[in-house]
Order: sequence, then structure tokens, then C-alpha cells
Amino acid sequence: MHVEELWKPGIREWDEAKLVQLLAPEDVEIVKSIRLSRFANEDVFVWPYTTNTVYTVKSGYWVATHVVEDGERIEPPPGPIEVKKKIWKLQIPPKIQHFLWKTIAGAIPTAERLCSRILNIDPMCQRCCLYEETINHVLFNCQHANSIWRCAGFTQFDRSDISLEDNIRMLFQILEMQSLTEEKRFLPMWMSWMIWKSRNDFLFAHRNVHPQNDVEKGVQAVAEWFIANPSTTIQERRICVTPTSCWEPPSSGWLKCNFDSTYRSSASCMGVGWIIRDDKGQYIESGWAKLPQVDTPLQAEANGFLYVVQRIWSKGMRNVWFEGDSLQLTNVINKWEENTELGNILIDIRHWISLLPLCSLAQVNREKNQAADLLSKCIYDSVDFFMLYASPPQWLVKYLYAPFTI
Ligand SMILES: [Zn+2]
Repeated sequence: MHVEELWKPGIREWDEAKLVQLLAPEDVEIVKSIRLSRFANEDVFVWPYTTNTVYTVKSGYWVATHVVEDGERIEPPPGPIEVKKKIWKLQIPPKIQHFLWKTIAGAIPTAERLCSRILNIDPMCQRCCLYEETINHVLFNCQHANSIWRCAGFTQFDRSDISLEDNIRMLFQILEMQSLTEEKRFLPMWMSWMIWKSRNDFLFAHRNVHPQNDVEKGVQAVAEWFIANPSTTIQERRICVTPTSCWEPPSSGWLKCNFDSTYRSSASCMGVGWIIRDDKGQYIESGWAKLPQVDTPLQAEANGFLYVVQRIWSKGMRNVWFEGDSLQLTNVINKWEENTELGNILIDIRHWISLLPLCSLAQVNREKNQAADLLSKCIYDSVDFFMLYASPPQWLVKYLYAPFTI
């Protein structure tokens, strides 16, 4: 049987009567949620146990040795890729790089993490006995960790409502604080590792050290590292950790379209924001639109991109550089990969970008994409479905002209 036999005759819409006849009720809903492309012409086989649909021995072994639940897939380790990349670029001891990477990937064996792997142990923090011992709790929220951060002069971590990811991002923000000495800027990286060591000492060697002592050990370790890695590398360190955060204009004769999508699983729609500027940084237009809700952030990114590509094409613009902040989407598009999560959206995107053969897509950091990010979030504050700004709205101006953005 071919997929097209489940469509209404002559149009690309699911024929619900046929679906109900052939499939279990729960499967009917799943099939109906699959987006149909106007441009896909052939059925293809896909390997659904990797994100790029390409068979690997590892995934084959995994399928052969597991009872495969519906929808289960080998996922990459959690944690944002952009943060992991920054960690590997840091000029700090590999053991601390490794520790930070494991932290953001959720691979530090705290009690809560071990419990999630079905080990029968108490998930509570043994230090304060008040909360589950999550990674965020041990390193940032526990009373003890809090005292250490305060003793070290960092009050940024006092709030308990900040996620682990954002706390790690905070470590990188401190690295960019030019008002601090080099050593002080790097201290939080060492301190997070010290806090983990201190936790292990407390738990396994029953040593309870005063927070001030942990701070002193951290300060000493940073100082020793700087002595062993003298000033020639300091400049490199700064270059590595300070990304340029200004929007950059495209080459002469080109336009640049920054876009960003916004997705909240609980919302009834997703949004896309875009802003088009020329090679002098001159504003051409910006806007935002509400789009039908999707299932994942990556689908939202792809749907948003599809929307802006269609818009650019319909406006008659041809020499356009697109910039978004999703590395995953950029890779899928530029490397011409398949992706189980995106499915038919990709076919539509490829059709539309084939109409713009001179366009390209690049990934930039969030700071450079801030204007588009802010525009996309407007959807939550408006009853309108679409907004176009022929001149920049007042609140956006400060993000545009100094010298180019933020
Ligand atoms: Zn605790």
C-alpha cells in the first residue's frame, strides 16, 4: 500500500474515513498529525531510530537489544550544543572542561540522576535533607553551594528559580565581565568543580569543610593554572570566550534576513519573527506571524524558516542571506540531511529554497539574532495573527543601530 492511497482523491489531505477503516484509533490521530507536503512525490523507507534517518551499527545494535517502545529513539545527550561547544573552546584544564560538559549533559551522578536510572537509593540531598539532589541543586541551589558562591563573591546564583542551563550560561557571562580580573572571571569554572569535589568528600569521606576553605582551594587552583599557563595564552583565552555579539551586515548588494521561532508546548500556536536589513545595515522590514502549533522546538524552527523563505520569495527578493540561531536546523538544511522529527517540512523547505538559488542559511549566536528573537515573542502579547513593521517599532530601535545591534 502507498501513502497516497490514504489521501482524499485528487488532493493532499488525509482521508479520515479510510484511516478509521484501516488503523487503530490511536494511530489515526498520529497519522492525522503528520504534515503532508505538496512537493513530495515518492514514498521512501526511513530508519526511524536515528534523528537523521541514516542506519548506523550502533542504532541497529540498540534496536536488536532493546524492546522498542513506540516513538523511542536514540537521542543525543541532553544539553544545548552551543554551550557544549563553548566549553570545549575554553582554555582551562581538561578535567574541568569534562566536568562542565557532563554537568550540562546531565551526566553527573547525583542522587536524583542515579534514581532516574532506577537505582534504589534516596534521591534527597544528604547535605541539607530538604530537596532532591539534582545537579542544579548540588552546584547552585543547596545552602552549602550558595554559601560557597557568596564567599567567592558571586551572588548571581542566589536564585533558586534559574535552570541548570541558565546557571551554566551565567558562568560564561561572568567570563565576559571586563570589570573583573582574569583570574576572578575564570574562578566560577573551578568553583563548580570544587563544589562537586566537596560534595563527594562530605558523602564518602565524611569530611565537612567550611565553605570558605572550598573557596580558598578554588582560588589557589586558578592561580596555579595561570602560573603554569603564562600570559601568552591569556589573550587566546579571551578571544575564545568572548564571542562577538554585534549583528554583521551582508556583502555589498545582498540583504540579510534574521529570523527566529518561538515555541511553548502549552501554547495554541507557535510564532516566527524576522527582520530584513541591507548591506549598510539599513532597515527594510520586520514582522512576526502566528503559525499553527507544532510538536517540538526544532519543528518550530523549521516551520518559521519555511515561512520567511516564502515571504522573501513572494516579496521578489533574491540575493538574501538567512540567519537563524538553530545549529541543528542549519546543519540539516546545509548538509542536506534527513530528519525524522522534521519529515515533510524539509521537503517543502527544499522546494522553496530551490526557488532562491542564491540564498544561503547560516547559524549565529543568540546575541546576533536578538532582534528576530524579540519579534517572534510578540505573538504572546497580541490578539493579531500577523504584524508587519514598515519602519522599526520604537521598542526595537535600541537593538538596531549601535552600531548594528545590541
Ligand atoms: Zn542540599
